[in-house]
Amino acid sequence: MTSRLIDVALPLPLFRTFTYALDREFEHPVVPGSRVVVPLRKGREVGICLGDAPESPRVAPKAVLDVPDPAPAIAPPMLAACRWLADYYVAPLGMVLRSALPALLTGAADPTPAQRTRRVVAIRRHELSLMRRENIFGRAPQQRALFELIESLGGRSTVEHLLEQLSFSPSVLKGLVARGLVEVVEEVVARDPFASRGTGPPALHPPTRAQRHAIDAMSAAAPGEVFLLHGVTGSGKTLVYIELLRHVVERQGKAAIVLVPEIALTPQTVDRFRSVFGDRVAVLHSALGDGERYDAWLALRRGEKRIAVGARSAVFAPLENVGAIVVDEEHESSYKQGESPRYHAREVAIVRAREEGAVAVLGSATPSLETWANATAGKFRLLSLPDRVGGGRLPAVEAVDLRRVRPDAPPGAAGGPGSRTLGGVAAPVSRESVRAALAEHAAAAAGGRAPTRLGVADVLSPNGSAASALAQQPAEAQRAFRAVVSEPLELALADRLERGEQSILLLNRRGYASFVQCADCGDVATCPNCSITLTYHRTPERLVCHYCLHKEEPQGKCRRCGGATLRQRGMGTQQVERLVTERFPRARVARMDVDTTSGKWAHAEILDRVAGGEVDVLLGTQMIAKGLDFPNVTLVGVIDADVGINLPDFRASERCFQLLSQVAGRAGRGPKGGRVLIQTRAPSHHAVRCALAHDYHAFVREEMEGRTRPPYPPLVRVANVVFSGTDENATAKLALRGASWLNRLLATQASSGVTLIGPAPCPVERIKSRWRWHVLLKTEHAGALTRVARYFLERFDVPKVPRHHELRVTVDRDPVALL
Ligand code: ADP
Ligand code: ZN
Repeated sequence: MTSRLIDVALPLPLFRTFTYALDREFEHPVVPGSRVVVPLRKGREVGICLGDAPESPRVAPKAVLDVPDPAPAIAPPMLAACRWLADYYVAPLGMVLRSALPALLTGAADPTPAQRTRRVVAIRRHELSLMRRENIFGRAPQQRALFELIESLGGRSTVEHLLEQLSFSPSVLKGLVARGLVEVVEEVVARDPFASRGTGPPALHPPTRAQRHAIDAMSAAAPGEVFLLHGVTGSGKTLVYIELLRHVVERQGKAAIVLVPEIALTPQTVDRFRSVFGDRVAVLHSALGDGERYDAWLALRRGEKRIAVGARSAVFAPLENVGAIVVDEEHESSYKQGESPRYHAREVAIVRAREEGAVAVLGSATPSLETWANATAGKFRLLSLPDRVGGGRLPAVEAVDLRRVRPDAPPGAAGGPGSRTLGGVAAPVSRESVRAALAEHAAAAAGGRAPTRLGVADVLSPNGSAASALAQQPAEAQRAFRAVVSEPLELALADRLERGEQSILLLNRRGYASFVQCADCGDVATCPNCSITLTYHRTPERLVCHYCLHKEEPQGKCRRCGGATLRQRGMGTQQVERLVTERFPRARVARMDVDTTSGKWAHAEILDRVAGGEVDVLLGTQMIAKGLDFPNVTLVGVIDADVGINLPDFRASERCFQLLSQVAGRAGRGPKGGRVLIQTRAPSHHAVRCALAHDYHAFVREEMEGRTRPPYPPLVRVANVVFSGTDENATAKLALRGASWLNRLLATQASSGVTLIGPAPCPVERIKSRWRWHVLLKTEHAGALTRVARYFLERFDVPKVPRHHELRVTVDRDPVALL
């Protein structure tokens, strides 16, 4: 037999594929997308067949060792999407395909891992009359008892349950089997921890007119069409997704994928899908072990589950005949993978939908500028849900201008209101009752009473006057608290505690890099060439631009207003938690950040406690800003809105606006309405100003303007080339050499239209003991950028020997952050 030659992608960091021979018949066919086990050097590796080999190699190819699957692991539309991904994000195809498969399918040692099974007893003969029972079980009362117990359990039970928990002896079971009354079968156990999470009955509201319009348009979409569902927070986007899925899955008999930013942070959204579609849904989340992930993959591949809900990587769900792909909160940066292949799940979703002939839906209250630009250019169809459902109103958002609040004024002593309303109507607060509440909290702190929910009578107790209570808190603690929580926010918090309503406090702590800000006018030093914040360096004391290396000495006074107090900014959640608990000792405070949520279900547990009314104040980083829907949350406070604005990153304002809008959207989802207080030193910055006014369109207009000179995405395409290594000098040298190598390449005809900025140290100069430098490639021509990046990664020589400090070069296309 003449052997057939096939082209195979292997998970190696090389931009090439490999030829292997099929020199014998295998049980399963080999088609594009099939897994094949092949010899590689001294070992073996799992690869993916891409098709017949384009040409015969000069050396005789080695033979395929095994073909483990009856059907291709990667179906044709997904293979096409992966090819696009590899090309666009400049990643080896074999690595892309490997990351599209569950880990258990990528090991050559055991290419078809066993599924975990359990032994199940099932009744074979039903409907035994009483007479027959007497006959059969006459002298075996134990067998009868077991048989009837299994009947009462619905005719099935696990062997383990009967023998271990109910203590029947194995011989009794054997007797039943021998008489043909029951049988014991091996059954696959699907290991899905989400399955044990209960859901309530589906809340299927009749759609509003705007929702109906969106559902109809999506249901009638052309294959591959992309929609942007722009709906304000609380406008009922989830219901639109659910109705679209009902159309696709129930009426068209197709499959669907729903991407959410992070499963652990959005248990409510996931529960809504599960309550409607039940066990047709496979939830793919990061807490799944390898075995569980493999089980879910198999259930989807075999069509046992028709809907995949999951984070980023669920875009590779092995469903066939996909009718819809939904990307909820499409602006979220967690859709971008931080390691190679550095894909953006939204972009892959769009390409996969095109290959599948499916409809793609991108949903957000604050679409990314890229998506918005595509919608206005007519590439995506825009559908709007402009209002909250049920006549609900967006919460009043107010700025607390921290420049006007004296930082060392003790609580309760600040003069003016310090609060102004720019975009909404302030909810009326009774000052007297609030002061009483504060006093009560302080008194409780001094007396060491156990934290309980405050009753109204408690709060308004006549003996605890504000003055005496405040006097009991040390001045030092008062000052520390006031530095974090302004008087208006403190009063609002006390008011919610008094009324038994819930509050959310957001600490926007992306403050990896510190910067210097004028305490009087709020001005922050920026680079003259890059419109980027200068980063403060302590030793030697310098302000440095991390894009172009511009350096300057820190000034003694503000360049804009001459103010003499220049402050360095930064703060942590733990510190804020302590200050809030000291101030409100009876409030039940829950903190949610990376430190408190290391356990598998920690997020869901905290959020369930909030939903169950067991938490008065939820404090956390940006992870609390996502799609939470708690009607009893009537106050959202943002501790430090402009920390994010001043990061040295062109997306800093966009992220800040999105975060403020999203977190504000958590307030006032119930009939009690809501109020949002944003503490800021930059109330006139467009990110803050437009969030106050709930004005997405105004934000986009101003932000687009700011991205023209110098141009940034979406006006141009960029790729961030990062050089890293364990030695500072060697890394810097590599970056300099890489930049001049690139500059020579850019001078040639083929790569014209691509410009280079840098090199410079990354804003986060060192991560996990690796030093980092970068250059930024910019262009209007996507194709030229692909060519340059690919050529560079293939040819630029990075020393590999150990003494060369583990030097590495990566390319991050369409980076979501340049930190
Ligand atoms: P979004 O994701 O747009 O912020 P959600 O999908 O979370 O909004 O919906 C907000 C709330 O409104 C949810 O509690 C949801 O059950 C409810 N809701 C959605 N659509 C309707 C409707 N047509 N009628 C009544 N309530 C609805
Ligand atoms: Zn610069």
